[in-house]
Amino acid sequence: MNKILILFVCVLSCFIYTAESLTLPQLTAQINGKVISQSSPDFNNARFGYNYRYNRVPQVIVQPLDTASVVLALEYAQTNNLLVSVKSGGHSAIAEGVQDLRVVIDISQMKQISYDPVSNIITTQSGNKWVEVYNYTINQHQVATPGGSCPSVSVGGLTLGGGANDFSTVYGLATDNVVELEVVLANRSIVIANADSNPDLFWALRGGGHGGFGIVTKFKFNAHPVFPTYYSAWITYSWADFEDVLTFVNQFSKTMPNNVNLYFTAWRSSNATNPSVALSCFYNGPSQLGESQCGAFRNFSGIEKNTFITPTSFGVTNASYYETVKNGTDPKARSSYTSGSFLVDITKQVVNKIKTQLEKSPLTPYTFNTARLNLYWQGGEMLNKARDYNAYVHRTYPWNSVWLVSYVGQEFEETYGKWIKQTYRKFESYSSGVYQNYPDENNLDNWAEAYYMENYPRLQSIKIAYDPTNYFRFAQSIGSTSSD
Ligand SMILES: Cc1cc2nc3c(=O)[nH]c(=O)nc-3n(C[C@H](O)[C@H](O)[C@H](O)COP(=O)(O)OP(=O)(O)OC[C@H]3O[C@@H](n4cnc5c(N)ncnc54)[C@H](O)[C@@H]3O)c2cc1C
Repeated sequence: MNKILILFVCVLSCFIYTAESLTLPQLTAQINGKVISQSSPDFNNARFGYNYRYNRVPQVIVQPLDTASVVLALEYAQTNNLLVSVKSGGHSAIAEGVQDLRVVIDISQMKQISYDPVSNIITTQSGNKWVEVYNYTINQHQVATPGGSCPSVSVGGLTLGGGANDFSTVYGLATDNVVELEVVLANRSIVIANADSNPDLFWALRGGGHGGFGIVTKFKFNAHPVFPTYYSAWITYSWADFEDVLTFVNQFSKTMPNNVNLYFTAWRSSNATNPSVALSCFYNGPSQLGESQCGAFRNFSGIEKNTFITPTSFGVTNASYYETVKNGTDPKARSSYTSGSFLVDITKQVVNKIKTQLEKSPLTPYTFNTARLNLYWQGGEMLNKARDYNAYVHRTYPWNSVWLVSYVGQEFEETYGKWIKQTYRKFESYSSGVYQNYPDENNLDNWAEAYYMENYPRLQSIKIAYDPTNYFRFAQSIGSTSSD
């Protein structure tokens, strides 16, 4: 009798499952957006992001145009026993938005944007690239919110992990400017997260938003007035002056006003004997005043060599912030390794180690293969908040160091992989924490501690509350201990 009952229940549940599962043709017919199957000519393009080292093949890629279609894509995945991954701009250093055999929910085509001058709030869907946001807010409304400094990075991933650009030293991180989010949860409900509604989710998504809490479809940001043009200098120096330049940059940063932003970079093209070194100095104020700060880099007294250091070139642009970003560098998508950390200080020892490490970077026959160190200044308003203000914890040390190798040619993968690992280990003891917007799965023994530090336990309990079955799971989702 019992056996008959069990059989009956099984048949019934099978029937219910089949009746409720959404088929791919049904999804394609009902969705406002696009379904890109493996046989579609667009599939190959759509599955790659910024890092070509990852060659993953998802089950299907869905590009919704509205929130209801995001829910539908999720329904398709869940009723077919599939997991999802979420992609906005595809810039994740570890290609977390595209996973093998999953349904990729690709938000990149959700681009609605508006600005309300009364509340002074910018509302944008997750798929806009930052250059598209600036084009709208700056060119049409003379306002902006801090976002990305490269044109192709998207609102979704950048904001959920922190997000800094030249405005951030005055206005804070992108995530600090978020006042509300629209989120699709694992149970397919659409919720609002802000200071009053789901405040714990609101806290978690701002800095911990890559961790698998839900799919964020819409952001509301505080807006700030912009100047018509900004002073921005791109300055290069001789490699022989490396120690003096970096030492001076670090000294200068300690007393500069908040409206100056610095970005220091040194790189070695594979066939170059010596690396190159450059500095960007940006002034967030009337552009005619920029020289009063950034002019300091034209001629300064070197500490190492006890002589005056002058640049090999000093180019100044005065342009709108939209133009600055649009015409700025947007590194090409290639195979790459990224690894970084916040430096506790840039001591003489650290300066020397950086120089030596770049000089020891691998050589290949191709100029376009590069090994690079980027030092992003993350000071001013980015640090003027408590470490638990939201899930973004890195409020203590301002120099964010990011090592990046970018290459063409699979044969170089092992060599570059070894070099980046060695580099990470060299600077580990001089560092505290890793910026979650440059995730690293090759070097971090404990990524949760590195990205979220003391905020991690709170993130874990919020994750359990909003995704109790851990449906949104992947290698570096909150709570995972190994590759899920
Ligand atoms: C060329 C380049 C320039 C950069 N410039 C800057 C910069 O100026 N400032 C800065 O702070 N950082 C910068 N970054 C780092 C950047 O912030 C991260 O790579 C960011 O995660 C990219 O977001 P994305 O949407 O483009 O990428 P994606 O790969 O699409 O997303 C990144 C992560 O966020 C998740 N995600 C994306 N959208 C959603 C969503 N809507 N809901 C839930 N999860 C989502 C993805 O699953 C993935 O884990 C840059 C990176 C690159 C490669």
